[in-house]
Amino acid sequence: MLRLALRPCIISSVVQDSIRILQAQGYKVTKPRRQVLEALEGAQKPVSPYDVQSTLRKQGKYLNHVTIYRILDLFCRLNLAHKVLSSGGFVKCGLGNEAGCHRFMVCRCCGVLREFVDEELCKKESKSAVNLGFHTEYHLSESSGLCSECYRKRFGE
Ligand SMILES: [Zn+2]
Ligand SMILES: [Zn+2]
Repeated sequence: MLRLALRPCIISSVVQDSIRILQAQGYKVTKPRRQVLEALEGAQKPVSPYDVQSTLRKQGKYLNHVTIYRILDLFCRLNLAHKVLSSGGFVKCGLGNEAGCHRFMVCRCCGVLREFVDEELCKKESKSAVNLGFHTEYHLSESSGLCSECYRKRFGE
């Protein structure tokens, strides 16, 4: 009992929000799911299932990478996390369950990610797809370039 009381029990509000979203969609908040959520929350850059595994291992927890991959896949389907196309790594969603297709702008210099939703852009893309005889279900896209900070450093103002 004492040992239990000593365990840290502070869960960030973002993890808490994600837990609520999982439950609202009818998914159980299992211990592995919670651990992967917390590892994603603490990550400073896009992570692979192996990165998540080694983060957990440092905390004395073990999950095999297939389990981690399946959990990340589920989180992506629920918009709790996303796969960054250019790096293949996973990041937690920064938009808090906002409807629509979540897209990224990725700085190729410092790696900073900016997530956004642009409904007009989605409409345009879906429309041009229809013109080509294709029915879009969702969009995956990413812009690569320089963030304003890196642009300024490189080219001045
Ligand atoms: Zn998102
Ligand atoms: Zn940058």
